[in-house]
Amino acid sequence: MRTGLISTAGLKSMPCEVKPRFVVLYGSQKGQAESLAEGVAEVAEEHGLVAELSCLSQNEKYNLEKENAPVVFIVSTTGDGEPPDNALQFVKRIKKKTLSTDHYKHLRYALLALGDTNYANFCNCGKTIERRLQELGAKQFYATGYADDGVGLEVVVDPWLEGLWKAIKGALSNMDSDRTGYLKAEADDSPKEAPDSTIPDVQLNLLSITDHQSCESIRESVETVSKFATAASSLASATPTAVSDLRPAFPAGSPGLAPQSRGTASVSTSAPETQAGDAGVPHVALAASLTHSLPPLSESSLNVPALPSPYLDVSLQEVDTVEQIIGPLNKETLHEVPISRAVKMTRGDSVKMALLLELDISAHPMMTYHPGDSFDVLCPNRAAEVEDMLHRLGLHDRRNHQVHISLRKDTKKKGAQVPSYISHNISLLYLLTWCLEIRSVPKKAFLRALVEHTGDGVQRRRLQELCSKQGAADYNLYVRDPSLSIMELLTAFPSCSPPLSLLIEHLPKLQPRPYSAASSCLRYPGKLHFVFNIVEFPASPGRPAGRRGLCTGWLFDLINPVLVFPEKAESSSSPALPKIHVSLRPNSSFRPPSDLSAPFIMVGPGTGVAPFIGFLQQREMERKENPEAIFGETWLFFGCRHRDRDYLFREELEGFVSSGTLSQLKVSFSRDDQEEASTSAAVRPRYVQHNLLLNSQRITDILLKQNGYFYVCGDAKNMAKDVNDTLMQMIQTELELDQLDAMKRLAALREEKRYLQDIWG
Ligand code: FAD
Repeated sequence: MRTGLISTAGLKSMPCEVKPRFVVLYGSQKGQAESLAEGVAEVAEEHGLVAELSCLSQNEKYNLEKENAPVVFIVSTTGDGEPPDNALQFVKRIKKKTLSTDHYKHLRYALLALGDTNYANFCNCGKTIERRLQELGAKQFYATGYADDGVGLEVVVDPWLEGLWKAIKGALSNMDSDRTGYLKAEADDSPKEAPDSTIPDVQLNLLSITDHQSCESIRESVETVSKFATAASSLASATPTAVSDLRPAFPAGSPGLAPQSRGTASVSTSAPETQAGDAGVPHVALAASLTHSLPPLSESSLNVPALPSPYLDVSLQEVDTVEQIIGPLNKETLHEVPISRAVKMTRGDSVKMALLLELDISAHPMMTYHPGDSFDVLCPNRAAEVEDMLHRLGLHDRRNHQVHISLRKDTKKKGAQVPSYISHNISLLYLLTWCLEIRSVPKKAFLRALVEHTGDGVQRRRLQELCSKQGAADYNLYVRDPSLSIMELLTAFPSCSPPLSLLIEHLPKLQPRPYSAASSCLRYPGKLHFVFNIVEFPASPGRPAGRRGLCTGWLFDLINPVLVFPEKAESSSSPALPKIHVSLRPNSSFRPPSDLSAPFIMVGPGTGVAPFIGFLQQREMERKENPEAIFGETWLFFGCRHRDRDYLFREELEGFVSSGTLSQLKVSFSRDDQEEASTSAAVRPRYVQHNLLLNSQRITDILLKQNGYFYVCGDAKNMAKDVNDTLMQMIQTELELDQLDAMKRLAALREEKRYLQDIWG
């Protein structure tokens, strides 16, 4: 057994102890997989093990080709079942066809896949890695966990983590005896396969939750779990609470900082008997809310996550001149382009407002795109929210100070790093405006850390509840589902005063927002169109007034003064057109078929029609340039609420039909009472999938007999799943297959890249 040397500091038993090692690799888009991997690495020592933690993108730090210790993968899935950005290269590497089937024969792995069953391709990245590992000969030592963010990751994650340690130890001892056996066999000069039956019986304890398993049964299973939290708690209670130089000081004796509460991870206290705040004002809780709970939760013992180890030292320095940086810093990959046109696509009485923006990319050859590509828009946090945050942190008068961030020397966090996306010499104002996603929903670990900075006992207890296992439903209801931001949370918990360092440790990087190109360069040289709905968040407990989505709200404010209505579209030549920062995200597979004679079907309700406008503009130009060529049939299934209010691109689509570019245009109106003249009330197509069913035979013919293509774009949460189910049902009926065989046909279509999705939620 290969072992790792660890520092002897703090070990009582031996002056120098050697502990078995294992490897933890993560692929993470928004930080969840990363923080779980870090959690595993952090508590490894508690289990007498040494964890070597790396991101899958840091391939200089690990070597799977030679790895003889157990490997734990924790990976999330993003977009249309894609690997997170930092796992892309790894997935590409292991997918290479040249790798032999015994390439990873020596490898023993466990895998935790994170996903969301509200989206198609649940846990696809984890499943892809697992499939390839097995094809390349790797052996699983612990059943894979498929955690579903749709019902709460913890439902699978907690028991999976609980069983992990026994499984690693089992794997270590099996690998040891394998090696002994192998050496013995080598000595006997009779090479034999290492025994295969090495998966420990810990497997029996595991959950491998399928998409169809009911939430109830999942929830029941989690009630039995507490060991992981307990193990974690002992670590946490050993972890002293770190005090940053920027932490607002609580008065001595403040209940929020009672010594016994510091660093406590497993809380076995109920709410204070009299629910009174520090000022002695009684809290009257008539109903549960973000800030108040009801029995049984309010009286329950709580299992809370381990207190995350602080790892950053942050200081602010006054400087003579502050560089006024406007816009994001990574200029190499970004292009600052003017908006050349802005059109409102929906009527005033439409439920959602859709806008079309045209960007002038003529000065940026690197932005040349193909239909099917999307591009990122970088937007800043809202100035008013940044100001509120500065006030809330008590740092408003230091907004122009330079931020210095370094690693805490005493941190216990494994693999701790200063976030690479935070540049040197930036001001505090810039940090909060361009670097941190200040609207992101606080994770439970963040809530746990906030407890340590909350003065009022009732508020502290409520934060503990919200991050506890017992309070999972309340967390979903009051924090996750309404997308509560940290600022909204701090407003609801006025006695909570976190230091700046905590925000930097827990808030993710401000993410660019991708949009699909809704034009073709052939039709509009030097121009790029995109169309989007303004996202609206309604008021909720913790959010007295509704708010707009960050990027769509920002774009709306930018272009509002120059916005034109379709009938006046050509008159928009305002000189004051704003510029935005964008970068291209090429999509190599979501493209119209390269064979012009191949038929294809497009399904894109709402703004999901965007890439298909690009497809059809390109097709129209190709038809003009190649009048002799044979072009395959094209079908578009579009859907909206009302024919007269939100039928996007109506004129252009009808024009494509008139010119023969679009063979079939099928539109469904979900809220119009007037039904299509040609259909009976019983089959009135409300949604795109109903229209698909009405044309089932033609579609399956195109797909299965004419080698056609099927594209879906738009809402991942409902539409893409419904379309997928409908397509499976159609294949099942038309080919008279059972469900399993229909699923296989659908999977084969995906594999052949003839069933393609570009979906978002
Ligand atoms: P944010 O502030 O980021 O909020 C959006 C988030 O909040 C989402 O996670 C959503 O699930 C959630 N949310 C939305 N409404 C509510 C609510 N009422 N209550 C609680 N939560 C809510 N969008 C387009 O409109 N057109 C496109 O062509 C397009 N193409 C895309 C292509 C790709 C490859 C991807 C990944 C996404 C695409 N999107 C597109 C989505 C787009 O990137 C943004 O997510 C969207 O515009 C919202 O951004 P925002 O910053 O305004 O909202």
